[in-house]
Amino acid sequence: MTAEVINGKELSQSLRNEMTEEVSQLKEQGITPHLTVILIGDDPASKSYIRGKEKASYETGISSELIELPSSTTEQELLSQIYDLNDDNNVHGILVQLPLPSHIHEQHIIEAIDPKKDVDGFHPVNIGRMMIGKDTFLPCTPHGIITMLKSRQISIEGKNAVIIGRSNIVGKPVGQLLLNENATVTYCHSKTKNLVDHTKNADILVAAVGRPNAIDDEFVKEGAAVIDVGINRLDDGSLTGDVDFDSVKEKASYITPVPRGVGPMTITMLLKNTIKAARGFHQ
Ligand code: NDP
Repeated sequence: MTAEVINGKELSQSLRNEMTEEVSQLKEQGITPHLTVILIGDDPASKSYIRGKEKASYETGISSELIELPSSTTEQELLSQIYDLNDDNNVHGILVQLPLPSHIHEQHIIEAIDPKKDVDGFHPVNIGRMMIGKDTFLPCTPHGIITMLKSRQISIEGKNAVIIGRSNIVGKPVGQLLLNENATVTYCHSKTKNLVDHTKNADILVAAVGRPNAIDDEFVKEGAAVIDVGINRLDDGSLTGDVDFDSVKEKASYITPVPRGVGPMTITMLLKNTIKAARGFHQ
């Protein structure tokens, strides 16, 4: 079997075309969705992610603003900045680019953002609403993954979904969204014994580990849908996922590439959340 490749870049483009139309209709009603991004320090990977987000916002007609703060910024200074943005009626979405310098407590920052402007979907209120299946801002990467599966009518209900990774931003929420879609979900992590015994059982396998090419065909059940979340930069500067694409594509039924896989979908779901925030504000 050779897997069908789910190209996140192409899917993103078609979704962004629809969003561009939606934004232009909102503008006719006098509403321009506005996203404010805060970057602390000058981490090159963060800068590159932010450039992608700004470009996509611009192309969709969403107005975006970048606030760059030095890495010496204190937690209190960052909190004050967030409180100002919470009170600013022109700002619909606030995104603080992670990771933060170690002297700033990430969770304090996430919890300071008004849940109605939390377009990353990381605030505990929004995470809680997601867990109980209520309308909310879904975290972007997990939402992008579900959208990729649905775009190919890959059935989720009753399927065994195995997630490798349990971070708050990817692993845990993607498992929850798959559970909400009636999958039977298993989480694996660094303390999991005999990882392969779990992954071989997966109809849907999500790799969110951060270890280049760690998941080869030995870990994969014949015909599985394999979603590769990993973004790993190799010594030669190229990007690769957590999944050994060449071996796994001969065994899976669907596979996502890196790059042009989950990455662009994450940005697309950020745009979706920003439009949703703008609509919510004006309703
Ligand atoms: P984290 O480092 O926060 O989490 C990694 C997870 O993998 C942890 O739960 C860890 O377990 C688990 N893990 C590590 N080693 C093993 C192992 N040998 N076997 C099984 N599990 C293991 O990473 P993130 O969730 O933030 O990101 C994961 C990857 O996805 C990264 O490459 C990141 O760059 C990428 N990413 C991509 C995005 C996109 O848009 N495509 C968005 C966000 C992230 P434990 O909890 O026990 O430590």
